[in-house]
Amino acid sequence: MSTPRPGTAGATRSCPHCKTTILESASICPACKHHLRFDEAAVTAKRAAETIVPLRVQGTVRHPAEGAAWEYTVVLTIKNDRGDEIARHVVGVGAMQVNEERSFTLAVEAVPRNDLKGPRGRSH
Ligand SMILES: [Zn+2]
Repeated sequence: MSTPRPGTAGATRSCPHCKTTILESASICPACKHHLRFDEAAVTAKRAAETIVPLRVQGTVRHPAEGAAWEYTVVLTIKNDRGDEIARHVVGVGAMQVNEERSFTLAVEAVPRNDLKGPRGRSH
């Protein structure tokens, strides 16, 4: 797995607050919500307006009204177009007692980056 160079699409850095790997371009950490740099409001607003969500999945799990408590593990995997697993994370663990409910939401947020060079360029 190649690491994009700084200044190119997909370049990453470590959040100084929570150490999560995030996009170099992020102005707010998506994990801990800390502001990371002070873009002009117009820049932040423009990026927010351009953000699309090509995938969002929501679901709810309810423990049946009887039986033993459940322990659960939430696992997220990402595969590339060849089917190779490029990321696998345990997002959270916990327990559900009889009749308890948990909701789960997965969202893929994307921002077109015409201002950056990518390995495949803008050849279209
Ligand atoms: Zn953070």
